[in-house]
Amino acid sequence: MASDPKTLQAAIVYFADPDNCLNFLVARRFRDGVFCPRCGSKEVRFLATRRIWECKSKHAKRQFSVKINTIFEDSPISLDKWLVAVWMIANCKNGVSSYEIHRAIGVTQKSAWFMMHRIRLALKVGSFHKLGGGPENEVEVDETFVGGKLRNMHKDKKVIYNKRGGTFGKAVVMGILDRGRGEVRAKVVPDTKRDSLVPHIAKQVKYGSTVYTDEAVQYQDLSHSQYAYMHDVINHAEAYVKGRVHTNGIENFWSLLKRGIGGTYVAVEPFHLDRYVDEQVFRYNNRATADNPMNDFDRFSLAVTNIVGKRLTYAELTGKEGETAF
Ligand SMILES: [Zn+2]
Repeated sequence: MASDPKTLQAAIVYFADPDNCLNFLVARRFRDGVFCPRCGSKEVRFLATRRIWECKSKHAKRQFSVKINTIFEDSPISLDKWLVAVWMIANCKNGVSSYEIHRAIGVTQKSAWFMMHRIRLALKVGSFHKLGGGPENEVEVDETFVGGKLRNMHKDKKVIYNKRGGTFGKAVVMGILDRGRGEVRAKVVPDTKRDSLVPHIAKQVKYGSTVYTDEAVQYQDLSHSQYAYMHDVINHAEAYVKGRVHTNGIENFWSLLKRGIGGTYVAVEPFHLDRYVDEQVFRYNNRATADNPMNDFDRFSLAVTNIVGKRLTYAELTGKEGETAF
């Protein structure tokens, strides 16, 4: 490949060439060589004028494009636009709105919204390993409240929020940070009750890890019962840091998350908050650090690899067959 684009502007120019789009995606979609998605054969011929392949075996649906079995498959939007949208989502630190994508790549705002939805969904899947490890592996756990101007909310939504209880109309996001890996997991949870928080820790963090939380009662039994975590709490009424016991790392993530929501996502709906949290988690976990000097191209490339490398269509991701909103 020629030199990789390093900026959004360079990426727009680079991917305006359909061959660059194709080569870039092939390298990530078919890492071990192009094969027929129907029969698995590598005996395929490239039809250069149409930029598609044809399987040499005689069977139905022998022709396929690089979009096959990806979230791009059933979309009429061209790859150059898709790739630029991925670049923006992967690299805009405080998030990017569907309005900005609409203006940047020339699709309707509605299309931009659906593109973002698909990209975020595809970025989310993955990371099956658990955080933490032994007692020497430190993990911070915390929750935060987002949004919640209840009086401005539509009546039906008010009812839903009041039913959730205890959150005063605010959405609750729970986060877990593995200090050693610098990796965050975060998700929207229904409330701050023990049963909404502790099972999530058990699912994401290896038993026996050291877990730091604030003094909230929901976390009280982390150190006994079946979990066997080494649990230490910081009482925020007394101090914010007690040696290594603090939750400043995950709180740093909260401030990034809220900066994005407060600025770019002025009108973010709690119902879409989970998607936005996923996006911020992706950027955070792939930020440049001393150990991992990632640039914008690296982050974009990783996002594309995550998206097409999984070979999942939108219908498979959502379980909604035949949903083609754009
Ligand atoms: Zn075939």
